[in-house]
Amino acid sequence: MAEENKNEKSKRRFFGRRNNSKNNSGAKKDNSSKVTNQSNNQNTNKAVNNQTKNQKAESSIKVTSNIGKKNDTYLNKGSEAKKEVVKEKPTEDVLKNIMQNPIRSKFNNNKINPTSSNKQNTKQQTKQNSAQSAGAKSAANTQSSSKPAQEKINPSQMKAIVENKSGRARDVSTLKRERLKIIPLGGLEEVGKNITVFEYGNDIILVDCGVSFPEEDMLGVDLVTPDITYLEKNKSKIKGMCITHGHEDHIGSIPYVLKQINMPVYASRLTCGLIKTKLEEHKLVRSTKMTEVRAGETITLGCFKVEFIQSTHSIADSMAFAIHTPVGVIVHTGDFKVDYTPIDGKVMDFTRLAELGKQGVLALMSDSTNSEREGFTMSEKTVGKVFEKIFNGCQKRIIVATFASNVHRVQQIINCAVETDRKVSIAGRSMENVMNVARELGYLDIPDGILIDIDNVDAYPPNRVVIITTGSQGESMAGLSRMAQGSHKKVSIGRDDLVIISAHPIPGNEKMVSDVIDDLIKIGAEVIYHSIADVHVSGHACKEEQKLMLCLTKPKYFIPVHGEYKHLKAHAETAKAVGVPEDNIAILHNGAVLELDNGFCKITGSVPSGEVLVDGLGVGDVGNIVLRDRQHLAEEGIIIVVMVMDKKTGKIVGSPDIISRGFVYVRESEDLMEEIQKVVNKELEKINSKETKDWSTIKSNIKDSLHDYLFQKTKRNPMLIPIITEI
Ligand SMILES: [Zn+2]
Ligand SMILES: [Zn+2]
Repeated sequence: MAEENKNEKSKRRFFGRRNNSKNNSGAKKDNSSKVTNQSNNQNTNKAVNNQTKNQKAESSIKVTSNIGKKNDTYLNKGSEAKKEVVKEKPTEDVLKNIMQNPIRSKFNNNKINPTSSNKQNTKQQTKQNSAQSAGAKSAANTQSSSKPAQEKINPSQMKAIVENKSGRARDVSTLKRERLKIIPLGGLEEVGKNITVFEYGNDIILVDCGVSFPEEDMLGVDLVTPDITYLEKNKSKIKGMCITHGHEDHIGSIPYVLKQINMPVYASRLTCGLIKTKLEEHKLVRSTKMTEVRAGETITLGCFKVEFIQSTHSIADSMAFAIHTPVGVIVHTGDFKVDYTPIDGKVMDFTRLAELGKQGVLALMSDSTNSEREGFTMSEKTVGKVFEKIFNGCQKRIIVATFASNVHRVQQIINCAVETDRKVSIAGRSMENVMNVARELGYLDIPDGILIDIDNVDAYPPNRVVIITTGSQGESMAGLSRMAQGSHKKVSIGRDDLVIISAHPIPGNEKMVSDVIDDLIKIGAEVIYHSIADVHVSGHACKEEQKLMLCLTKPKYFIPVHGEYKHLKAHAETAKAVGVPEDNIAILHNGAVLELDNGFCKITGSVPSGEVLVDGLGVGDVGNIVLRDRQHLAEEGIIIVVMVMDKKTGKIVGSPDIISRGFVYVRESEDLMEEIQKVVNKELEKINSKETKDWSTIKSNIKDSLHDYLFQKTKRNPMLIPIITEI
């Protein structure tokens, strides 16, 4: 089965197999998406330059009055959608009007949910849990009756209903209410490859599209991307992807997914810049429609409206999303921490989150990375203060290793360098790439004359230089590790150097980081790292910040995301502590299909999810079988037996060649090699005497006898490959 999967995947996913014209089909279909600007607090609108926009720029009360007396958050917020539809599809708007006015509820109650009016005003909440298992229809009825204002209908349903009104169609059996589906294809029970599907009716949007890094047993694998079989099957529904921020675990798979399914990408300015460098690498810039979205703006993708909300995290321009869906608002925090004093001054938009909370949030999906940690994560600014202390009066050359993407950290290092009259040099390609993008887009402020080329650092006295580099996780190929091993081409570290490792080791990297620190100390450098000074703060919220998010948004349902199971579980406990009922908390796993509406929130199935491994240019061609072989070879080595068969007689002639690699050092194991030769010869005698001519029988006999002998003699189990050549 594994073999089958592997083959299927490799066929499906191998690079460049599909041509662009095929891939573009997704993009061509997308004509319903657009960006609108919805400034949070003033309800002003800057982006849409037509008359309806001006009407819309007035207060929300007026907008509300346009669509009847609904105090429904989605409809209020969705007033733009209505107007946009006017521009594009007037008939549909008329239909929508019909549906949004009292006629709709009458029609809806009488025809679609005939039982719901009977149930109105009855107390349903306590029954909902039992109703959940009773299936879609009853739960939908329960929901619509307990909160009529939440009733919504998607365009396809509307069409069907109006056809009914005009008498052309009578069958209403297909008009059952739909639920929103939330399907994480990655990012749960792991930290990495975040990608979540939001599906309603015929519309799908994606939130984030990240990679994770290979586990230790994934030998030779460069990256791990999510299995997108589900998306491929539902290609025609996909309206686009919205990206919360520019970290690899949120953007890394974008090129791989776009090669399979072209779709528009929406992200903030810096995130777009970072995605673009990836698209350039994969030659996808021209075929990809990418749109910059600012905080406060809302984009419309099919029936979804995705509102970008300013957030704070360890990378600039991070966004939370309010996803306005036909069943209610879903707030997705993306990765976040609460930083009241962020370096760029862009504080999280608490006002908007609270406003959404007041209007009614159906579900909150919130970052769980630090959910086991008490208290608050410190502000990024506190790191700057520690840097200042270290830099002031330091006579040594300073080398700081940090994450390339932490633009604010880099900015603080540069600020300290400027204040202490040091030049700054950059070592490491990823650091250079990110800094170039960030500087170009105005996210990094570097005074002229501060940056110097890495080749020129030796021209300055040690106390006049700062080198910023990568490798804070001990990665063997990154700048700091090579400096520590003395193999860096441009920088050699010694007694005149102070090294600051401005990062915490990510779980699993502790040993590598520790080795680098040891190497640096051995060659005489002074090293400051997380357990010596506060040279790093996390980018993720601790318990108290998670509580704040829960209390601001006041969600009906809570879905902890971004973390291993223990993190999700701890976050669920926090949610319970602030009053979210246990039954309203959904802990998901990758591939789970969560269906929800105002009275229902339950896992109803699953879709394929998993890992597609990237090795060099191959995507998905390395599967379980290949990995198992690689592990076998890595652990036990290989023995190859080359035999020659006489074509005429069908007999093995001569003595076979025995070749071994990674098993024993042949020159020091001549006796063993001779023994192996004898075992093979003996088996061949048997084969020849029995006149066995079938190649696979010969091979398996050789393998079996050799395997038994080697295991008995050495307790090792090398890979055995018999080869027969004919002469
Ligand atoms: Zn992040
Ligand atoms: Zn993340």
